[in-house]
Amino acid sequence: MSQPAERKDLETTKKMKSVMGKYFMELEQGAQQGRKTAWCTSVGPAELLRALGFNVYFPENHGAMLGASRMASDLIPLANARGFSPDICSYLTSDIGSYLKGDTPLKKMGMSGPPRPDVLVYNTNQCRDVKDWFQFYAREFGVPCLGVHTPRSIGEMDEAMIEYVAAQIEALVPDLEKVAGQKLDPDKLREIVASSRRCTELWKAVLLTAASVPSPLTFFDGTIQMGPAVVLRGHGDAIAYYEMLLAELKQRIVDGTAAVPGERFRVYWEGMPIWGKLRDLSTQFADLQTCVVASTYCNSWVFEDLNPDDPYRSMARAYSRLFICRSDDQKEQYIQDVVAAYKADGIVYHDAKTCPNNSNNRYQMPLRIQEKLGKPYLVIHGDLNDLRLYSEEQTRTNVQAFVEQLAQG
Ligand code: SF4
Repeated sequence: MSQPAERKDLETTKKMKSVMGKYFMELEQGAQQGRKTAWCTSVGPAELLRALGFNVYFPENHGAMLGASRMASDLIPLANARGFSPDICSYLTSDIGSYLKGDTPLKKMGMSGPPRPDVLVYNTNQCRDVKDWFQFYAREFGVPCLGVHTPRSIGEMDEAMIEYVAAQIEALVPDLEKVAGQKLDPDKLREIVASSRRCTELWKAVLLTAASVPSPLTFFDGTIQMGPAVVLRGHGDAIAYYEMLLAELKQRIVDGTAAVPGERFRVYWEGMPIWGKLRDLSTQFADLQTCVVASTYCNSWVFEDLNPDDPYRSMARAYSRLFICRSDDQKEQYIQDVVAAYKADGIVYHDAKTCPNNSNNRYQMPLRIQEKLGKPYLVIHGDLNDLRLYSEEQTRTNVQAFVEQLAQG
């Protein structure tokens, strides 16, 4: 019997462990040395928090770790027992379950657990769950919870809306200064915004290498490679890492090295990763010589609007341009553009049962896009973290049938 095909691993990934390990170590050491810690949502005002000298910790990243390590399904019931519905965000329920049990994959990275927060800062640009999630911890730890409320279903972004969000970000400053015990240095903020912007440019360039045929990168690589863009934007370590990664990917293009050997088909992934099944799905697609070239998810950490000369308004613009808080018209146009840019033959939509915010298959969007592009699509029913909502067998069969459909052209 032949061995299943595997995607070709990237050399730079070997450095990832030390980059992420250093980030987590600095969180722990910083907290021990009295540095204040801010918990931040993934597209919250991280630049502002860094400029104020906070340790910045991202619970969603921890949620993804709980999913990838397959600890989540055992932890979610603990949060359910404390009144959080099994139907809401499984990052939230697995993270709170982890807190209640005192068990975390961070222990394997030499940490005792997530650093205790001094303040929690959210942005509702992605969903309301993040606010409820952070408010739980604010009550547990008796610390302030601050936030930015971004409109949802944004069509064209107008100046009034940008002003509204920018004013909210700026209004956080006095309260954050109180917790930080220091005044905000505007030059420091500009410097951090410039660093975030550079990280974004490099991350975008990394993702765009997948437009080459064959692609040197898959969505499954992207979910691993995005770590520094999520937790270290505004920090020099992210820039150094992506410079290295980009160089390797460019070399792959020159050498004609495919991430999926013998690439025959190219697919776009819309929706959340299924963290506990990344390896299995990657292997199945590679076996079918099909490269999942790009995704909305990995592209969501590209913030091209950031501008050090106009920090607040540019942060507002960048955080509100996020795919997840846009109108269906905007989303459809975006998907059509990226499918064309990455030369995808079809689209996979992941219906993540506990994240309606990141599941775009539920209101006919796949059909509308299919009518415009004439490309096949597949809906995978599952979840980001709760594997009880995912059927391995059904997904395998459906992926196989989808690739056969691609083969029929
Ligand atoms: S966007 Fe979805 S996965 Fe992310 S925090 Fe909100 S509900 Fe959870």
